[in-house]
Amino acid sequence: MNQTPTLWWVRRDLRLADNPALAAAAAGGGGVVPVFILDPETERLGAAARWRLGMGLAALARRLADHGMRLILRRGAALETLQALLSDTGAQAVHWSRAYDPVAKARDTRVKAVLKAEGFTAISHPGHLLVEPWEVATGEGGHYKVYSPFWRALSARPIADPVPVPHLTAPAQWPASDRLEDWQLGAAMRQAGEVLARYAVVGENAARDRLHAFLSGPVKTYKADRNHPALDATSRLSENLTWGEIGPRTVWHAAQEALRLGHGCEHFLKELAWREFAWHLLHHTPHIATRNWRPDWDAFPWRGDSADAEAWRRGQTGIDIVDAGMREMYATGTMHNRVRMIVASFLTKHLMTDWRIGAAWFDDCLTDWDPASNAMGWQWVAGSGPDAAPYFRVFNPDGQAEKFDPQATYRQRWLSRRAAGTRDFLLAAPKSWGLTADAPRPAPIISLADGRARALAAYAARKA
Ligand SMILES: Cc1cc2nc3c(=O)[nH]c(=O)nc-3n(C[C@H](O)[C@H](O)[C@H](O)COP(=O)(O)OP(=O)(O)OC[C@H]3O[C@@H](n4cnc5c(N)ncnc54)[C@H](O)[C@@H]3O)c2cc1C
Repeated sequence: MNQTPTLWWVRRDLRLADNPALAAAAAGGGGVVPVFILDPETERLGAAARWRLGMGLAALARRLADHGMRLILRRGAALETLQALLSDTGAQAVHWSRAYDPVAKARDTRVKAVLKAEGFTAISHPGHLLVEPWEVATGEGGHYKVYSPFWRALSARPIADPVPVPHLTAPAQWPASDRLEDWQLGAAMRQAGEVLARYAVVGENAARDRLHAFLSGPVKTYKADRNHPALDATSRLSENLTWGEIGPRTVWHAAQEALRLGHGCEHFLKELAWREFAWHLLHHTPHIATRNWRPDWDAFPWRGDSADAEAWRRGQTGIDIVDAGMREMYATGTMHNRVRMIVASFLTKHLMTDWRIGAAWFDDCLTDWDPASNAMGWQWVAGSGPDAAPYFRVFNPDGQAEKFDPQATYRQRWLSRRAAGTRDFLLAAPKSWGLTADAPRPAPIISLADGRARALAAYAARKA
């Protein structure tokens, strides 16, 4: 029997179940060494995402400890760190879950080529998506650029079953590990970590419980209620999916089962497919993360950073639903999907600000930050992306608020002086912003009619 251990390179897959990379590593026979590497690519995460990663790593370490295992932490370039670990442990093989963003793909391609050239086994596995991006193709063999046909093609395919938690054995000797506390992953947080911690639901067990709680109740009214930010009507699984604390195949099959039982899950499955669509787009057209997906938008006179954008970041635009959403994100690390669309539309249309300025703030504040969904979401709203909302469709934030927050419950939660949300936001917000509970609400920084007219005029000029 093979007695050399195998490395499981842990990335955005902080789970033991439904993890083909871990299952392959465990099949090696000589014990598994789980290792997370804080490499320069990972160091680039935004403040809230780094903080949330730290929470996820701590939860994974506890989960591994329940199986008599450890999580080895190392800091440095991925290739050199893996080479050192292969040498320290005598391992001959390393397995990992595939990533699809351009930065990670470039790193992984090099790691794989060098390790293979040195005689090691280096294998990447599926697991972060329902199907691999190259497995869903149009009739002409290209990739989908429009969601509806993508959904039809995806839902007609079989989705692989999740693999069970493998039997894990420890290596004969554990290599040295950094201490998670020494990495100070929360140090870059402007907002107080204690506030975010109240809202975070961390780890594989919690994610599984969250899925089952959702499928046994709220999913039944999901279609009708999911656009209402005051209601607890959605799964809130995005923070777990993004860190891989639950696999999308697990979610897919559980929802299919609920659908079979008559719980009306189709809409939920369609939302999960938006995540999939985003990742497939990022794989096939990596520029979606940094440049206008449609190059004809390069000529649009986006405004750069400004006092208006700063007011937007601080939740001080004077437009209630926008400010409530920005406060929600700052205090909780997430924001309701409907409100994400409203605040993004207000920034890119009424304030005519470059979508990348908004996306960068989301990068920094979201604990569910996902390179694919964030880029697609922003370009969808701005009008520059694939299958995007047309630019001339400008959301009226007040109209949206009346429709989706008719009792103003959500807005009051984040704006009323004595509301719990306001308290949390003020605790989390930097003192330098000078915000207090008693400060009067600011006047709107722009009239909604003027902002709309300015955006439409710029759009018409660009068209001309
Ligand atoms: C400007 C903008 C930025 C966004 N940035 C992110 C981001 O960084 N990370 C992120 O996970 N989502 C992002 N989204 C998508 C969406 O807002 C969140 O996925 C959703 O709010 C998560 O809530 P939930 O888990 O309760 O979703 P549910 O309604 O329960 O949906 C289930 C799952 O489907 C996926 N999903 C749902 N809606 C979308 C969508 N519109 N696009 C892609 N996937 C979706 C998510 O994985 C979600 O967890 C963004 C949307 C916009 C408009």
